[in-house]
Amino acid sequence: MFSKEKTIFAYTVEKCNKCNLERKRKFQVGDVLFTETSKCNSCNGITVIEKIFGETIEK
Ligand SMILES: [Zn+2]
Repeated sequence: MFSKEKTIFAYTVEKCNKCNLERKRKFQVGDVLFTETSKCNSCNGITVIEKIFGETIEK
């Protein structure tokens, strides 16, 4: 079933509620969906975790 070696990278997408800027970064332990994370770079809004997903990379 799993013949190829695969690596899964988890990503977190943060979205600013004010200017709708989305930022994708590596998932960090403690990231929880829909929680406030950090300040937006382009405005003074607060970014919220909108999505957490994994990408499979085949070697
Ligand atoms: Zn913003």
